[in-house]
Amino acid sequence: MVNLKKLVFSFPLLYLLSVAVVAQSTIFPVSLKTRKTAVNKLADVIQFQTVSSLNQEQFRYKEFKALHAYLQDAFPLIEENLTRNVVNQYSLLYTWKGSNSDLKPVLLSAHMDVVPVEAASEGGWQEEPFAGVVKEGFIWGRGTMDDKYRVMAIMEAVENLLEKGYQLERTVYLAFGHDEEVGGYEGAGKISAYLAEQGVELEAVFDEGLAIAEDVLPSISEPLALVGTAAKGNINLKLTVEGTGGHSSVPPKDSPIYILGNAISNLHAKPFKARMTPTTKETVAVLANNLGGKYQFAMRHYYLFKGKILKMLAKDRATDALIRTKMVPTILEAGDKYNVLPRIATAVINVRILNGETDETVLRHIQKAIDDDRVKIEVHGVYTPPSPVTATNTQVFESLRKAIVDNFENVLVVPALFPGSTDSKHYTNLTDNIFRFAPQVVNRKNAQLIHNVDERLAIDVYERSITFYDSLIRNTCGKNAEMNMVSDDDLNESVGVLGN
Ligand SMILES: [Zn+2]
Repeated sequence: MVNLKKLVFSFPLLYLLSVAVVAQSTIFPVSLKTRKTAVNKLADVIQFQTVSSLNQEQFRYKEFKALHAYLQDAFPLIEENLTRNVVNQYSLLYTWKGSNSDLKPVLLSAHMDVVPVEAASEGGWQEEPFAGVVKEGFIWGRGTMDDKYRVMAIMEAVENLLEKGYQLERTVYLAFGHDEEVGGYEGAGKISAYLAEQGVELEAVFDEGLAIAEDVLPSISEPLALVGTAAKGNINLKLTVEGTGGHSSVPPKDSPIYILGNAISNLHAKPFKARMTPTTKETVAVLANNLGGKYQFAMRHYYLFKGKILKMLAKDRATDALIRTKMVPTILEAGDKYNVLPRIATAVINVRILNGETDETVLRHIQKAIDDDRVKIEVHGVYTPPSPVTATNTQVFESLRKAIVDNFENVLVVPALFPGSTDSKHYTNLTDNIFRFAPQVVNRKNAQLIHNVDERLAIDVYERSITFYDSLIRNTCGKNAEMNMVSDDDLNESVGVLGN
């Protein structure tokens, strides 16, 4: 019997990728002077409190304007050589024009906004969250890991290339949104609409997402560079049950709370069906290939072991999320007096939709599972469909892979499903090639820092992220890239490693 246990149970860490940073040895081909400046500049921009919020009053508009001015000042060659568009007042779109207008441009996406610092956690920080302290090999503060370091790494890479007189063949856009943490509709959404208006089609979009994970699999010594080649969709459904109210001493047999409770318990009892998407199959195949032996055998004979593999993936909540649409009630409201029957009871069910399904198939499943006309089901907020799947048998993926392995030595590049949602969802109409990969190194120990107390980035990881973007721009847009990068034939969905 082939034992897949080790492989399968090691997956959860892949999805703890909400990011941490690990010190590594420094290999940095720029002078100490440049290096210091880059670090100091990132520390500076941490000080702008660019907190985004759906509540207009809490949105820190002035901070965004101040950050814009800082960037203009800190990157004089970009200011001089690139076109700068302010989109919807607070987002930025830079255009670095290439010499060959026949080539579709590449877009590098990052976001300038950060999540707030919870009042309750303020005292818990070792360094003030917006002070931008550089200490003990780290840059400290809100936004160092998500996502200001990417804004700054991209800017540094471009400024350095301009300084060397580097000429592009393919145009590059730098797109910096201002509201990714609250959906990105006003930032990346508007940038995408602006580009579409201009008739722009993109070769590829490179956005945040998964990252480089260390110590994931005991049997694989290399860190895994996980590239999100697909993302789950999401939708919120509001369940509403209305009753007649009245005194609690003479209740009817069914009150809104009972009916709603029953509906929720039916959802719990009837989960969505498990299945392997092409992306997860590819992930498992790449890992199995590397582990060799019995793992490889199982993946080569996938159809024989399908049931077993699915069953094992279903056992852990992180891997279970990769093989099915997940739903969970997140908001529940009913009643405010102990002796009064509520007239209305509501629940919001948050649904994360697996690729291959839609809002309609989700709704159908939920209606069927609840099977009660007294429960009204409606869509609450915006529906984000699951992303298309980005092919990996292409030159553009190869260019990314090369940029990763050239800057993070000894890593294994693995395509994977990204269970979250980023600004990249706004660009699906402009390209088939979306890659969700953040050039940082994460491990079990530090995986909790993002959106959290003591967010901080190791200086040497930051330096690598700069050289990573240098490589990525050269590989995809430079003179020698010679990329007829993606042919139409390449765009068929691929599970390249499996070969079927
Ligand atoms: Zn982010």
